[in-house]
Amino acid sequence: RYMGTGRVRMVYSPTDLLDMALKSEKPVVFLGIGFETTIPTIASVFLKAEQEKIANLFLYTAFKVIIPALRALLDIPDRYLDGFLLPGHVSAIIGTEAYSLLEEPGGVPGVVAGFEPADMLFAILLILRQISRGENRVENGYPRVVKADGNPRAREIMERLLTPGSEPWRGLGIIPDGSRRLKDEFRRLDADVVFDLPEIKDYDPPGCICASVILGKKSPVDCSLFGKKCTPENPVGPCMVSSEGSCAAYLKYGD
Ligand code: SF4
Repeated sequence: RYMGTGRVRMVYSPTDLLDMALKSEKPVVFLGIGFETTIPTIASVFLKAEQEKIANLFLYTAFKVIIPALRALLDIPDRYLDGFLLPGHVSAIIGTEAYSLLEEPGGVPGVVAGFEPADMLFAILLILRQISRGENRVENGYPRVVKADGNPRAREIMERLLTPGSEPWRGLGIIPDGSRRLKDEFRRLDADVVFDLPEIKDYDPPGCICASVILGKKSPVDCSLFGKKCTPENPVGPCMVSSEGSCAAYLKYGD
């Protein structure tokens, strides 16, 4: 169906949006992607847009949150994981206390890691130590940035604008409360509602085993397209898109 014409622009920061919308006579739609790391900044911009009654700025939400995803991974009957290397940037917002589900019976070791090579190695060491001791605790391997209670102010900003939603995740299906969408009181900002956008259907392209790669059940090298038909320059599946994609990282750094 005809969806109109428009320009796609990348912005360095969502804070550029207010100025961009004020200078435009057309609707400006921001595609909000990300986890707890990026959501608070985007939320603060849209709360300000609402406060300043900027009528032509809209948000299309593709926000995810991590804890329901960890729960879904733990609940997979034939799960293939021994521990979680927990992301430092998300943990700076949600805090180590948010991961208490990993310490419940049936949990696995979880260690918050920083991004320097030494941080990663240290966190892996802590996971291995827990495995060798038969423990499943949450440890903070990135204490210079991550605190036990994270950043309550950032979470409060998120929660003012957004509410839990249940949308599909690659390889995991619909995760209850695993997404964040605009609250009903902010429907005026919601591009999905305002432009009556069609439902997005997720699928793996033929031959792509990205879902199994994400779940740790298969390695990128098990995919017949890996490094041949599927490369960072011409990605077939989503795991090859961006330097953070599992297949793209594997292609770059190898075993
Ligand atoms: S190499 Fe490409 S096609 Fe294969 S699993 Fe990865 S993203 Fe999918």
